[in-house]
Amino acid sequence: MQRFVTIRTCYKPLPVSDTEQQLYEVVAAEAAARQAPVYVVGGHVRDKLLQRDSKDIDFTVVGNGLALAEAVGQKLQTPVTVFKNFGTARLQYHDFAVEFVGARRESYRPASRKPEVQAGTLLDDLARRDFTINALAVSLNADDYGMLLDAFDGLGDLERRLLRTPLEPELTFSDDPLRMLRAVRFAAQLDFAVVPEARMAMRQHAERLRIVSIERITDELNKMLMTDRPSIAFDLMFKTDLLREVLPELVLLYGVEHVEGKGHKDNFYHTLQVLDQVAKRSDDLWLRWAALLHDIAKYDTKRFEKGKGWTFHGHEVVGARKVETIFRRLHLPLQEPMKRVQKLVLLHLRPIALSKEEVTDSAIRRLLFEAGDDLEALMTLCESDITSKNEKKVKKYLENFRLVRSKLIEVEERDRIRNWQPPISGEVIMRTFAKPPGREIGIIKEAIREAILEGRIRNTYDDAYAFMLEKAAELGWHPVTKN
Ligand code: ATP
Ligand code: MG
Repeated sequence: MQRFVTIRTCYKPLPVSDTEQQLYEVVAAEAAARQAPVYVVGGHVRDKLLQRDSKDIDFTVVGNGLALAEAVGQKLQTPVTVFKNFGTARLQYHDFAVEFVGARRESYRPASRKPEVQAGTLLDDLARRDFTINALAVSLNADDYGMLLDAFDGLGDLERRLLRTPLEPELTFSDDPLRMLRAVRFAAQLDFAVVPEARMAMRQHAERLRIVSIERITDELNKMLMTDRPSIAFDLMFKTDLLREVLPELVLLYGVEHVEGKGHKDNFYHTLQVLDQVAKRSDDLWLRWAALLHDIAKYDTKRFEKGKGWTFHGHEVVGARKVETIFRRLHLPLQEPMKRVQKLVLLHLRPIALSKEEVTDSAIRRLLFEAGDDLEALMTLCESDITSKNEKKVKKYLENFRLVRSKLIEVEERDRIRNWQPPISGEVIMRTFAKPPGREIGIIKEAIREAILEGRIRNTYDDAYAFMLEKAAELGWHPVTKN
């Protein structure tokens, strides 16, 4: 049911750069010439009021948005890209991404996010927006130029730091379920609360996320991960059942089980804490994904062993495999990024093992070799993985990692392992024994690499060559060329 609303207006001086001013003047003049009222709407107005930087400017035109965009593009001598299907047009003006759209009214069918669209009034247009704070408009028209139009008390919600839908939340969310994830993302990005009735509607409509394309979902997940405190987003998704739809594996980490009076930690909230700690230390999206997924297989590997308590043996190995399943499902990039996340999940316990007193140089070399360029990210993950409430313990663990770091630096300076390639390549092996590529070549190559990492032979061509002859002899191979 639609509430009756009146547009409240107020004048709020907002800082506008020279570039923006020039743009507004051209847009206002062209709109006036066409007698098509035009407004700055949505995120840009919100961000200005919140004093956040914003490089997107959206204009809503009561009339033909595409025609206005073309006229503005001509005046500013910039090309305009028209998206006919969406009825929107875009242009770039200095560093602003500018979008024009005609004011519209929408009606939705239950099975799709794609609405039927008709021309509408400004109020129709604002009412179909996701949140009141995104439904503010600034007039660029002669009779009320610069006036802020606030039909749904978006200003009040900005002050109260609340996310509220302009219409009934059930309607807003069932029309376009992506809005539920936008609510979560804004909650984390702006540190706003979602009003209780909207939270209830989210829980009720969580399953409707299934009609949203995976790319849109993943896009929001990435934005959530890039906020200062991503835990806000994942906790809210958990509490509104959205997480069950997008990352059910994480939901399984929630809870504490007790056997013989012994409990383990809640791995869901532990994960969120690690994620926030990583977010404080690094802006690397893939490292943040690794933090989110580092313990993902603790549910699968959990066992209670008599006399030992709770164990999660192999969770790093199973976890690395699960990373691939999740990346595939979410259409995240499977090449470099996924490989990095897998590597970080797989290795996330290794620096702990290295923090023990009697660690050998070969163990250090092995980690340098396996982590390669991701060593710094791995150390950041490990340092963030400390979530004890006992400050003394935290201090001690961090100190241990400082020692690991200095050992890593020391061995790296001496042995140069990080971007190291063993001195004997597959080609040399094939040439020496006149053999085609095959499994045996890999076996010999790996044996050479292992022997060097273990410190059994020196990292030189001659030592590696001699070792290669030995290994090949075990296979009954004899060299056909001389070194
Ligand atoms: P950001 O640019 O940080 O993602 P934004 O609020 O500007 O945030 P945009 O995707 O740029 O988001 O959209 C601009 C405006 O369009 C929003 O402020 C909102 O008014 C409206 N909007 C965007 N997506 C939706 C949606 N799915 N449902 C309703 N309104 C939306
Ligand atoms: Mg925007």
